Amino acid sequence: MNDTIKDYHMSALLMAICLNGMNEDETINLTNEIIESGQKIDLSPLKKITVDKHSTGGVGDKTTLIIAPLVASCGVIVPKMSGRGLGHTGGTIDKLESIEGFKVKLTEKEFFSELKQIGVSVISQTEGLTPADKKIYALRDVTATVESIPLIASSIMSKKIALGADKILIDLKVGTGALIKNLEDAKELARLMIKIGKNNNREVRCILTNMNVPLGSKIGNSLEVEEALEILNNQGDENLKNICIAIASNMVSMGLNISLAEAKEKVIYNLENKLGLKKFYELVEYQGGNIKNLSKSKYHHEVKININGYINEIDAYKLGVYVGNLGAGRKNKDDIIDYTAGIELKKGINEYVNTNDVIAVIHSNKKITDDALIKDAFKITSKKIDYQLIYDILK
Ligand code: URA
Repeated sequence: MNDTIKDYHMSALLMAICLNGMNEDETINLTNEIIESGQKIDLSPLKKITVDKHSTGGVGDKTTLIIAPLVASCGVIVPKMSGRGLGHTGGTIDKLESIEGFKVKLTEKEFFSELKQIGVSVISQTEGLTPADKKIYALRDVTATVESIPLIASSIMSKKIALGADKILIDLKVGTGALIKNLEDAKELARLMIKIGKNNNREVRCILTNMNVPLGSKIGNSLEVEEALEILNNQGDENLKNICIAIASNMVSMGLNISLAEAKEKVIYNLENKLGLKKFYELVEYQGGNIKNLSKSKYHHEVKININGYINEIDAYKLGVYVGNLGAGRKNKDDIIDYTAGIELKKGINEYVNTNDVIAVIHSNKKITDDALIKDAFKITSKKIDYQLIYDILK
């Protein structure tokens, strides 16, 4: 942290780790060093079990917007620090900033007051937490060493442990639209994160979920807030709703020390009775947002398919890149993003489509003249495919 180790030394170390891996002790030691590089938050004054959630990142992943208030409405404290969009994936903080006036930067005192008063707070990462991860991550990004399992495990777990929650639920995305592409690697990463948690007295559960197709039917910042509201109103995309129920139930089971079945009952009750929605409105109001004025794009372009058959693939990576290029993401860290830009999927996996059916609508402030890239993300054949939403839960 005092710059005696030059970037080229660190890059060489990162490449060596990427090529040779690290054993468990080495990974735990690196994680501990990253935690100790900065501030640590002590949540014990809240005097209740706190449960944090982390997603390894995906396309259309708006689960935090739904789960954080839903879990808090069940009586569990959810302290959440989130990130901005990265690469082809969106970020919770950008989604929240699409709500007029929503403040993502709170002082530690304000963060604590909000947790005490309403039981949930979603803010951007404070500068003081794990500064070594910021330095290492920036180097990994430009030296092609992001995809190393021990480096990912130490990066995620150091941030979670420094934030201070007692228990942590990790939504580990697997597939073409995710950082981790196959189930074997996902299980190895999950086991490592659980071990790091144990070493630091933290209970960790990892839920391995499918990210071969985008999550839900809307991709793009304000569109995803809209979809989160649909789910909190107990409507909308069934796959998205089911993943949210599974994650929220695990968090409530950990937070209240009750069985998973009992926790699931509470979560579904609160969803059906709009108690999660009420908590979401409280969260938005507390952080200065005005949910009534979600902005919309100027143009809506319908994408029509030109063959018949079952949808076998909706390539999450291609759509993530497309939405980023529409203006919903950043190429450089200071770019201004277009909160209204995005894609609304009108058909889902294994649905039958006929020639001329609208498969998607592009929301944009620029007129769209060519939609070939969107059509290219859909694969259509004569048969349905096997599709699994949740692969496994490890603890
Ligand atoms: N998310 C992180 O925070 N760190 C990684 O290394 C990968 C995903």
